[in-house]
Amino acid sequence: MQGIKEKIRAIPDYPKPGIMFRDITTLLQDARGFRKTVDEMVQPLAGTRIDKVVGIEARGFILGGAIAHQLSIGFVPVRKRGKLPWKTLSQEYQLEYGTDSMEIHIDAIQPNENILIVDDLIATGGTAEAAIKLIRAHKGNVVGCSFIVDLPELGGRKKLEALGVQVLSLCEFD
Ligand code: 5GP
Repeated sequence: MQGIKEKIRAIPDYPKPGIMFRDITTLLQDARGFRKTVDEMVQPLAGTRIDKVVGIEARGFILGGAIAHQLSIGFVPVRKRGKLPWKTLSQEYQLEYGTDSMEIHIDAIQPNENILIVDDLIATGGTAEAAIKLIRAHKGNVVGCSFIVDLPELGGRKKLEALGVQVLSLCEFD
């Protein structure tokens, strides 16, 4: 079987010229690839108590839902501004030009819960950092951030590790 990395499609110049987009849909549509991905995203945390999975919109929902089901624990979405229906806490984060914000429901995380954050890819780490701040604002403990892909040159892993968070990834691209 091809490895996880080989099943990820590269799309040049998407969403704009000069960007090489890492498309994980080719991995997810492959039954064995999807299962292996979910297994490997949590395997290093075997033995760690995890109370909830937080998935980051949108691809983090696909992976986070599957991981929460696998671990028989709850799932919490972190969404882009204005998408959640109940009262939210917001956290701004930096985009290439300007800022945006991520939101979580105010009653989604309880103090001292152990939380695993899940997304498909870490680049600058800005999105995951916003999720960490939202969880910590609720006094949750972030026990790890798990991604399929790390783009190490963009510095996200170092940014999260500087916040004291363990970063897991299944493969890297330059
Ligand atoms: P960051 O905040 O770490 O700079 O960017 C990570 C976020 O952007 C993640 O939510 C991820 O889904 C999305 N993202 C950025 N570049 C890519 C890419 O090449 N492929 C995929 N699948 N997602 C990307």
